[in-house]
Amino acid sequence: MTQIEDAKSGKITREMACVALDERIAPEILRKRIASGEIVIVTRRKCKPLGIGKGLRTKVNVNLGTSSVVVDPDAEIRKAMIAVEHGADTISDLSMGSDIDEIRRAISYAVSVPLTTVPIYQTTAEKGSFHKIDQDDLIRIIQKQVQEGVSSVVIHAGFTLDTLTSLKKASRTMGMVSKGGSFTAAWMIAHKKENPFLERYDEILEMLRRRDVVLSLGNAMRSGCVHDLSDKPQLSEIQRNAELARRANDVGVQTIIEGMGGHVPVKEIVAYVKYHKKIAGNRPLFVSGPLPTDIAVGYDHIAACVGASIASGAGADYLCAITPSEHLALPNIDHIREGTIAFRIAAHIGDSMKYGLSDRDLNLARMRRHRDWEGQFKFALEGEKARQIHSSGDTCTMCGDFCALKIMEQYLGH
Ligand code: SF4
Repeated sequence: MTQIEDAKSGKITREMACVALDERIAPEILRKRIASGEIVIVTRRKCKPLGIGKGLRTKVNVNLGTSSVVVDPDAEIRKAMIAVEHGADTISDLSMGSDIDEIRRAISYAVSVPLTTVPIYQTTAEKGSFHKIDQDDLIRIIQKQVQEGVSSVVIHAGFTLDTLTSLKKASRTMGMVSKGGSFTAAWMIAHKKENPFLERYDEILEMLRRRDVVLSLGNAMRSGCVHDLSDKPQLSEIQRNAELARRANDVGVQTIIEGMGGHVPVKEIVAYVKYHKKIAGNRPLFVSGPLPTDIAVGYDHIAACVGASIASGAGADYLCAITPSEHLALPNIDHIREGTIAFRIAAHIGDSMKYGLSDRDLNLARMRRHRDWEGQFKFALEGEKARQIHSSGDTCTMCGDFCALKIMEQYLGH
């Protein structure tokens, strides 16, 4: 039985009890939301179950993995460890270079968080080109990754040849920017065949159901710049993904929907999240960024932190971290660290919008008020970094002897 099947039958599983305790939510409420598809539990062997969805803390995913041109498996393992050390809730291994099976296994041993893959990446890398793939290759790789125990897999099933025709006619500046989406679309056009994930959808669902692997429906039609507003292909993918999620839930497969990744004008973010959640029956929404501007190149993690804060505050449940190297290069270890921290901040801000201000903020402010530096470091998201920046002493070097807090303590007594 999968978590959603158990939830539908009224059973509260060990995993549900664990997530309920972690999230301070009543187990029965959690069970009902899993049954309705509003919450998923992702897990894998030797890994604590993680809940994603309505009423739960916003989660952060970090993408990593070798590319076809930068191949350093040890670095990818270190990146995974750094990401988790700095608060990543899940890791996605997107490797396309070297021994992909070996890298995935090494990452899964190195960290104890859920692991996601995009099977078309490995299929394409192994075949050397998406042209050489056939449907059975895709099924074989999904099967292998599922049997190995990954927590979730991404497939780009939300578009058809008709969607690609409307994409061709759409007046987009950036066209399609999803890597997995582009492999799938190019294959469909080259082979004059329908979306392979759609054609084999029932079979894929059965594979995932057997191992309770969470399905993540990819976001191929996302906008690639802020001037590419919601258009026909994008809206059609949202509708189709919502239908596919319902079908998956009906046969016992837990499902996350990716949406609104990429670039979205800041004034559209809230409406977009709410629209997506409504169409998708409030199923868990995974957003990459979004970036509210295109010009922050080199600092995209900061721009995306703004977009992700607003998106999570509006109801997005799961954020995919953006690093400073977005659009420029495969992220190095420092970039992974910076991106992870930026998105922990975004998730925290989003949660304070969704659920109210946290005690942690208040506790830090109290420590700051009394110039209790160790207390501040304790409640800070990255206390060690704060400690390194602070110079020793009762005040800090910003105002020195003219510290406003110290002066008011003397004159107002608080
Ligand atoms: S010295 Fe200035 S910046 Fe530093 S703690 Fe005092 S008031 Fe704040």
